[in-house]
Amino acid sequence: MATVEETQVLVETVAWLEKEGWRTMSARAPTRRGARAAEEALTARGVRVPEHDISSGEGPDVIAQRAGMEWRIECKGLGERSNTRWSDFYRGLGEAVCHFDKKDGLRLGFAFPDSRDLRRFASKMSPGMRGAIGLWVLLVDVAEQSVAVVSPQEVFCPFCDGATVYPVGESGHIKAEHPDEWRFLAGA
Ligand SMILES: [Zn+2]
Repeated sequence: MATVEETQVLVETVAWLEKEGWRTMSARAPTRRGARAAEEALTARGVRVPEHDISSGEGPDVIAQRAGMEWRIECKGLGERSNTRWSDFYRGLGEAVCHFDKKDGLRLGFAFPDSRDLRRFASKMSPGMRGAIGLWVLLVDVAEQSVAVVSPQEVFCPFCDGATVYPVGESGHIKAEHPDEWRFLAGA
């Protein structure tokens, strides 16, 4: 898979939020050049640019609000080499976790390109951790200009490296696709 710039993920995330009726308050690109590129890309697509423009400072990459709810989203791209992908993923995860707060209506998000490597890393996040802090995952497809959302109540199957997503507590997928692992889990 080709590399994907973090700025592209940011653009798709903002475009998706606006389409879903969220108001993007701020967005941050990794560099000033990226911030300009993101602003141009959004304007070209007719998407409203965030209220406080696009900057390159500190804080969550995207903050969006709707009816008393708030998204705090961390964005990461897809690097060329697998060890870069690995360290970018865990840095992004760490940043996403740092935005956690005990606040009603808060949704933590981690947005990254939908790819085999990043799904495999995502399958290492335990459902318990994601559920406890309410961490959503946004799978971005820059070619299709689309975003697929994985809620904290859904798990990236650890037995197929996250290729499949299923609801927490549902064993049907494991029984059907991974009978050996199911026997292991069931203690049979
Ligand atoms: Zn599976």
